[in-house]
Amino acid sequence: MVTRRDLLFQIAAASATPRRIALTMDDFHWRFLGSTETEVLAKNRSLLKLLEHENLQAAAFFIGGNIEAPIGRKVLDAWGASGHIVANHTWSHRNYNAASTTFEFFSADTARTHAVLEKSRGFTPLLRFPALKEGDTKEKRDAMRAWMKSAGYRNGHVAIDTSDWLYAAEFAKRLAANPRYDSAPFRDAYLSHLRRMGEVYGGLARELAFGNAPLTLLVHYNELNVRHLADVLQSFRSAGWQWVGAREAFRQALYSQEADTLPAGESLLWALAKQTGHYEERLRHQGEQDKLEEGLISNLP
Ligand SMILES: [Zn+2]
Repeated sequence: MVTRRDLLFQIAAASATPRRIALTMDDFHWRFLGSTETEVLAKNRSLLKLLEHENLQAAAFFIGGNIEAPIGRKVLDAWGASGHIVANHTWSHRNYNAASTTFEFFSADTARTHAVLEKSRGFTPLLRFPALKEGDTKEKRDAMRAWMKSAGYRNGHVAIDTSDWLYAAEFAKRLAANPRYDSAPFRDAYLSHLRRMGEVYGGLARELAFGNAPLTLLVHYNELNVRHLADVLQSFRSAGWQWVGAREAFRQALYSQEADTLPAGESLLWALAKQTGHYEERLRHQGEQDKLEEGLISNLP
């Protein structure tokens, strides 16, 4: 029997605008995918085939050091040729919040990757800061912001920050110990982590009046996502999210916002929330989030 409450729920669900989400992938440590070029390129093709099948354009943020070798170059070219955004994640992936990472070093490190990427298909001048660290001092933060403006760059912001890299590292250990490892429980924990982060940052987006913008999800290029990215896409869809292209996401006004926080960085939504001064209780630093996830992962088979 359909109750009045069921009906009201169905009407509300049908009239709600679907939440939108876009895929961004970082690092491209192709060595994580295999020891031979054949193996790496086969797995790379499977990721690209999935996105083609889903008709989904992603943004791929490359570490310059990973596209120096011919095999890394082939990975880069394949993503560009498949219509994805190809963008800059610096050359050596230094933490810009470290006192030892100067503006002079960091801007040169970004320019070095730019010199390789600018001739690539799909290249879009977006910079993703390693570990989302945008500077520990006002001087460093603003110097890099000015550098980006003069170079025609925008920040390739993450909206939904995740600890997928932590899951991926633990997943790799389990596979190394047992190549026939049954990954189903691990996969389920990973998917629920991502959806949980979707709820956390989706909630912040609504409260900050950016609820209509597609939110950029952070994942990394690794074996976990080679095996389970299809599940990630399906899992968000089942939770009421609609996948949209990364180019459409980065066009939104949300991604032109500059938060006035120090140290600068983290998820853009996290930084915008912090800037208001009203979210101290709810904003856990990524470090704390990672500790929480480590505890969850250690209990998995
Ligand atoms: Zn990275």
